[in-house]
Amino acid sequence: MNPDSLAINPLFTRSGEAKERPRFALADDEMLPETAYQIVHDEAMLDGNARLNLATFVGTWMEPEAARLYQDTFDRNMIDKDEYPATAAIEERCWRILADLWNAPDPGKAIGTSTIGSSEACMLGGLALKRRWQHARRAAGKSTETPNLVMSSAVQVCWEKFTNYWDVEMRLVPISEDHPTLDGHQLADYVDENTIGVVAIMGVTYTGQYEPVAQISAALDAIQAATGLDIPIHVDGASGAFIAPFLQPEIEWDFRVPRVHSINTSGHKYGLVYPGVGWIVWRTVECLPEDLVLSVSYLGGDMPTFALNFSRPGAQVLLQYYNFLRLGRSGYAAVQGANRDVARYLASEIGAMEAFDIWNDGSDIPVFAWRLTEGHTENWDLYDLSAQLRQRGWLVPAYPMPDDLADVTVQRIVVRNGLSMDLANLLLGSLRECVAYLDDLNGPLPKHRRATTSFHH
Ligand SMILES: *Cc1c(COP(=O)(O)O)cnc(C)c1O
Repeated sequence: MNPDSLAINPLFTRSGEAKERPRFALADDEMLPETAYQIVHDEAMLDGNARLNLATFVGTWMEPEAARLYQDTFDRNMIDKDEYPATAAIEERCWRILADLWNAPDPGKAIGTSTIGSSEACMLGGLALKRRWQHARRAAGKSTETPNLVMSSAVQVCWEKFTNYWDVEMRLVPISEDHPTLDGHQLADYVDENTIGVVAIMGVTYTGQYEPVAQISAALDAIQAATGLDIPIHVDGASGAFIAPFLQPEIEWDFRVPRVHSINTSGHKYGLVYPGVGWIVWRTVECLPEDLVLSVSYLGGDMPTFALNFSRPGAQVLLQYYNFLRLGRSGYAAVQGANRDVARYLASEIGAMEAFDIWNDGSDIPVFAWRLTEGHTENWDLYDLSAQLRQRGWLVPAYPMPDDLADVTVQRIVVRNGLSMDLANLLLGSLRECVAYLDDLNGPLPKHRRATTSFHH
C-alpha cells in the first residue's frame, strides 16, 4: 500500500465507503463522522499513558465535575470579553486571587492576565522588563541597542525563545556543584546598565530546586549600593508558585521581596488544570508599561489586552476558578503535601539503592533527580535504565545537566496529582527489577543504540 495513504478498511466494512484516504492532503470526498472518529481515536491510542508519564509537569487528571464543566464551556473564547463577560470576570478574579496568594502589598493595585501557559506569560514578563528599561534609557538619553537578561544556565527553553525572538542578549550564569542554582554568587560580573532584569526560577525544571529569590535580591541590593543600578526580578514560578504558598509559606520568594516586579505560573502544572492555561501578575500597574497594553474595540466598547494570542480557549480559566473554589488553601495544601510525601518517599528509597546518588530530595517542588553512583558500573547508564522502564510503561527521562555541569547525567521524576503511594511502590518494584537486570549484564550495552536526550521540560 502507498505509504502516503491512510488505510480505512479493513477497520470497517461499509460498502460504498472509500478504502483509503490521502495521508498528507485533503481528500476530495467526505467521510462518515463515525469513521472519522474511530480513525482519529485509534491513532491517538498509540500515545503514551499520561498517568505513567513521570516526565511531564502538566496536569493529566481532574475530577469528573471539572470534566463536565469543561464540556459545558469549551466554546468560550477568552478574547471575546464582550460576548463572554462572565468568563472575563472570572479571569480577573483568578489573577487577583493569585496576586493575594503571592502577597502583593496591595492586590487592588496589581495587574495580571491569563495566558496559554507559562511560556506566553514569560514572554509578557520579559517584554514588560524590556520596555520599562527602554523608557528609562531613552529618558536618560542613553542607548537602547543592547539589552540583556540575566538568568541561570538551567532556565526553561521559553527564556531562550524570549531572548531570541525579542533581540535580548541571554546572559547565562553557569551552575556548578557548589552553586547548583542561581544564588547571587558573582552576580555583579553579569549585570550592567543594559540588564533589563534577572530571572529567578521557583522550581528549576532540571531538578525541581528553588532558586533563593531573597538571596538573589540581596545580591542586587549590594550591586545597587555600589553602582546605582536598580535591577528588577521576574520570578518564573511555572511550578513553584503553586507549591511554595501552600507547602513553604515561610520562604520569601514572592511580592514580599520588593525587587520582584512580576511572577508567572502554569495553571496547567501544579495549578491542577488540564493543558492550556498560565498566569502572570505584576506587583503594580507601574511595572507594566502602559504602551504595551492595547485597546481592542468590541461591539460593546474598548477592552485592554496584553497578550501574544488573540483567540484562545476560555474554558481552562473556568477550570482554574473551579479548583480555587473547590480546593481553597487547605485543599491545595493537601494535594501538594501528598505529592511531596510521595516524592520524598521515592527519593529516599531510590537514594538507598547502591546504584544511585540522590541529587535533591523533593523537598522544594515534588520533583527530584538522581545520578548513577560513581564507579557503580561501566555496563549501563541512566539512558539504558530509562529505556528499560519505558518497556514497562513508565516514562522516566534521563538527560544531561546544563552548563557547567553538562558532563553530569541525571534522571528525574515529577510527582503529580495521581501518582499515589501505591503506584509509587509499583514503580519502585519495576525500578528494582530493571536495575537487577542491568546489573546482571556481562558486558556493556551497545552505545550506538542509546538515545541521548529525552523530553524533560
Ligand atoms: C514548564 C516551565 C515553563 C514553560 O511553561 P509552559 O506552561 O509549558 O509554557 C517555563 N518555566 C519553567 C521553570 C517551567 O517549569
